[in-house]
Amino acid sequence: MNYSRFLTATSKARRRNPIRHTGEKHMNIISRAPKTLISLAPGSPNPNMFPFKSVAFTVENGNTIQFEDEMIKRAFQYSSSNGIPELLSWLKKLQIKLHDPPTVHYPPNEGQMDICITSGCQDGLCKTFEMLISPGDTVLLNEPLYPGTLCAMKPLGGNMINVPSDEHGIIPEGLKKILSRWKPEDSKDPTKKTPKFLYTIPNGSNPTGNSLTGDRKKEIYELARKYDFLIIEDDPYYFLQFDKPWAPSFLSMDVDGRVIRADTFSKVLSSGLRVGFMTGPKCLIERIVLHTQASTLHACTLSQLMISQLLHQWGEEGFLAHVDRTIDFYKTQRDLVLAAADKWLSGLAEWHVPKAGMFLWIKIKGISDTKELIEKKAIEKQILLVPGNGFYIDSSAPTSFFRASFSMVTAEQMDMAFQRLAQLIKESL
Ligand code: PMP
Repeated sequence: MNYSRFLTATSKARRRNPIRHTGEKHMNIISRAPKTLISLAPGSPNPNMFPFKSVAFTVENGNTIQFEDEMIKRAFQYSSSNGIPELLSWLKKLQIKLHDPPTVHYPPNEGQMDICITSGCQDGLCKTFEMLISPGDTVLLNEPLYPGTLCAMKPLGGNMINVPSDEHGIIPEGLKKILSRWKPEDSKDPTKKTPKFLYTIPNGSNPTGNSLTGDRKKEIYELARKYDFLIIEDDPYYFLQFDKPWAPSFLSMDVDGRVIRADTFSKVLSSGLRVGFMTGPKCLIERIVLHTQASTLHACTLSQLMISQLLHQWGEEGFLAHVDRTIDFYKTQRDLVLAAADKWLSGLAEWHVPKAGMFLWIKIKGISDTKELIEKKAIEKQILLVPGNGFYIDSSAPTSFFRASFSMVTAEQMDMAFQRLAQLIKESL
């Protein structure tokens, strides 16, 4: 793979932050050095002057995670831009277990799998888009999609092309049709502006709840090979897939090293700790880390240590058992929201059964623009929902859709909300 052809001028121009680099090199020397070594090098503040002296978190199984003495100094200190080593190595094992990426043993500059930890996967995605999109570049995605992606992508000035999709995700035939504007060899000619990447949310998509099937992924991956574009797999709802076996990820089929995968602990451990991780070819992950060296420096050390300690206490099995408990909760919520929708909205609206995640994407029949209904009239009736237009590239275009989240409400609240909504729709028709 010729990775450099995908990079923006800004990303290509990024160089190592010399202080960060030297600091990381010195940490290595210090860890192996005799006691006589004197270091006047670090620019880190002296942690003895930090006021926090100990902290303990109680975990639901009664275990605690405790930081004191040297650990608390480390938890409140700067750390490596790609992430703390013990969490990185744990995550590498997890990715190999879950996805078994073909690239694990590739040479470093030929697509070898690498991981970096970011401040939530939003941070990793935002840096990925800045790494790849120059004004006028073609990028493929499937609407409706997560507004956080649109916010990060739109200002970069790419030509965003919507690929048709249905309740099973992107439709490969639709993608083929779009790609037929180019010849496969056009990717060698930058003036032809062949697509640089396809971005998709493969499981429990925000906002539709739809999931892409394994067979479609295989067809899409083959098209990526033929037309030589990257795939950005934004998968925050991976650990909230309701039915097993889970469809194979794009990362698991990545024989070329063309997939950048975004994962996060936001939906299963904590969204406020802001810890996510990007997995992909080393040459591209390194660019994200260089960006981090110039911006946030690293994801919060305390957050990373908390998660790392918990994962080491639990082990892979314990983590996956927690994931299963979380899935049980969201699956029950999904079934409750569907029951409430069936009871009150049948005949008035349409929806698909979400396969993962926390959202129901609802189309109101006979109302072409839900904006006013959702933003004004629904609030007057004491229901908060998200109008659909914000999930499209052109957010000014009308849509009959809106998003209902089922993560935080009780069965009674769902029932009451849809009863009120049904009444409102009837009044508005
Ligand atoms: N991608 C999608 C599709 C999301 O729904 C979200 C969170 N709502 C994110 C990325 C960002 O997640 P994080 O909290 O890891 O930054």
